[in-house]
Amino acid sequence: MKCPFCHSIQTRVIDSRLNQTQDITRRRRHCEICEGRFTTYERVEEVMPVVIKKDGRREAFDREKILSGLQKACQKREIRVDQIEAILRQIERRVQSIGLKEVPAKTVGQMVMAALHRLDKVAYIRFASVYREFRDVQEFVAELQENSESLDTQGNLSFPFVTIEESRSSSDKKEKQP
Ligand SMILES: [Zn+2]
Repeated sequence: MKCPFCHSIQTRVIDSRLNQTQDITRRRRHCEICEGRFTTYERVEEVMPVVIKKDGRREAFDREKILSGLQKACQKREIRVDQIEAILRQIERRVQSIGLKEVPAKTVGQMVMAALHRLDKVAYIRFASVYREFRDVQEFVAELQENSESLDTQGNLSFPFVTIEESRSSSDKKEKQP
């Protein structure tokens, strides 16, 4: 660490200790050229931005929540665990690379959808039916038909997904009313 007084790099640590909450290391350093003493603080860089939810509330970026969403979408599909983990890492990197302290939950959801769309169309539809705001059943069916050529014989898209979305959006509407 460069000396702040004479800019020499010939400095050494003479004392190192953690603060009370154990998240910051405080180091006393000594410059061998000018005999100056100075302090440095070291902490883990908090790289994941806060997620802004639809209702405006902020919450921590939740890796587990995204993972469980991915797992649900990929259930009974021929998708390997490492493929799901790769998507998760990719999303984390992309969220970080935006370089903002706050990121809308919708943006994160769109990243998940884009990744699933490339990986498996059934998983994509499953995820989208829960997280994307389809205005109505017709829109959902249109999206489904758009991707239907990619569905194999095992691709049993059941209507509970539509029901979840419908009940969700109707409760959202109630919340918005004063
Ligand atoms: Zn110095």
